[in-house]
Amino acid sequence: MARILIIEDEQDILSVLEYNLRQAGHDVTTTRSGREGLKLGKELHPDLILLDLMLPDLSGTDVCKQLKEAAATRAVPVVMLTARGEEIDRVVGFELGADDYVVKPFSMRELSLRIQAILRRGKAPVESEAGIEFGVLRIDREAHRVWVEAAEIELTALEFRLLVTLYDRRNRVQSRSALLDDVWGIQADITTRTVDTHVKRLREKLEAARDYVETVRGVGYRFVGTPEEATA
Ligand code: CA
Repeated sequence: MARILIIEDEQDILSVLEYNLRQAGHDVTTTRSGREGLKLGKELHPDLILLDLMLPDLSGTDVCKQLKEAAATRAVPVVMLTARGEEIDRVVGFELGADDYVVKPFSMRELSLRIQAILRRGKAPVESEAGIEFGVLRIDREAHRVWVEAAEIELTALEFRLLVTLYDRRNRVQSRSALLDDVWGIQADITTRTVDTHVKRLREKLEAARDYVETVRGVGYRFVGTPEEATA
């Protein structure tokens, strides 16, 4: 059971979503307004937000941006509901920070599966004092040490930073230029090709954990949401 906030102005869709998610045992709150949705998002601490792209008062795009900017709601997964032909690329990308999307008309079954997957992801990683444990990978942030299947692997300081940056934004696509800014800092003499070279080397060193870092063709890289995703 999860607390789900639905922000959708079309009454028919809203009713169907509300009914089905309640039937599935979720605690559901609905609103037809983007502004009200932002307010509820901060008050309710939902586990997940379903957000329509076209809302009458504030666009779903703006709502998503504001949710991802606010400390109270930044970590809440957002699934965008879009009509075919709307700007899906922008929606799913890093630009908005949405975690997933479904295209209308969607089947309730499809949406339920997506919701389940996202809720599972939220609980997946274990971060304790001993460090991060993610499938066969273990990272000690403090000591800058990494193990794969209990064997320690040697990473350069830069590779370590690259790994941790990707890990911290797991399940979100990171563009090469964003990685350059965040891992290398902006330097005039390096190009986005540098990122590819380093990711390649990092993957080689990661051995059994190599598939946790995925290439997203034409965009950049993504650390998977759960270890199972990489083996699927
Ligand atoms: Ca709408």
